[in-house]
Amino acid sequence: MDSHDVQADLKHVLYTKEQIQSRVAELAAQIDADYEGRDVLLVGVLKGAVMVMADLSRALHSHVTMDWMAVSSYGSGTQSSGVVRILKDLETDLMGKHVLIVEDIIDSGLTLSWLKANLISRGPATVEICTLLRKPEAAKVEIDVKYVGYEIPSEFVVGYGLDFAEKYRNLDFIGTLAPHIYE
Ligand code: 5GP
Repeated sequence: MDSHDVQADLKHVLYTKEQIQSRVAELAAQIDADYEGRDVLLVGVLKGAVMVMADLSRALHSHVTMDWMAVSSYGSGTQSSGVVRILKDLETDLMGKHVLIVEDIIDSGLTLSWLKANLISRGPATVEICTLLRKPEAAKVEIDVKYVGYEIPSEFVVGYGLDFAEKYRNLDFIGTLAPHIYE
C-alpha cells in the first residue's frame, strides 16, 4: 500500500461525510428556529472548528457574522489542564450580541467553560454553544451545551477539522486512528 495513503492510518470511520452533512443541516434548522430571525455572531474556535463553521454557517438561513478565537488549553500532555491561554482574540465587540460558540469537540469541557465565562464578561445578549461532537467526560463539568451533533465514546478521533499532530484535519469524515500511528 502507498505509505502516503491517509486511509491506511485509520482504524474505522465513525461518521461519513454524508452523515455529518445531514446532522449539521439538522442543527442549523434548530438554530434558525431558536433565533427567529435575529442576527447571530458565530464564534469559531481555531483550528478544529473550521469545517463545522464552514458547513454550519452555509446551512443557516439567519443573518450571521463570523469571528474566530484561538485558545490553548493543553500543556505537553493530552489531558486538558483547564489553564487557558488566548492565542488569538476576537475582533468583534460582543456588547448586546447573540453569540453562538462553534466547536468541533468537547472532551473535558474545561476549555469551553472558561471560554463561555470569558465571553459572557464582555456583555453579549446571549451566549450559547454548538459542538459537533461531545465525549462522556464533558458530563462532569457544569456547562450547558445547547446544540450537540453527536455523543461519542471516549476515543481519540480525527478528521473534519480534528487533528493528530496537525494532520488529518482535511478529511471530510470523522474516524479513529490505527494504533500504529500513536503507539
Ligand atoms: P477540553 O474539552 O478537554 O478542554 O478540550 C477540547 C479540545 O481538546 C478540543 O478542542 C480538541 O482540540 C482536543 N480534543 C479532545 N478530544 C479530542 C479527540 O478525540 N481528537 C482530537 N483530534 N482532538 C481532541
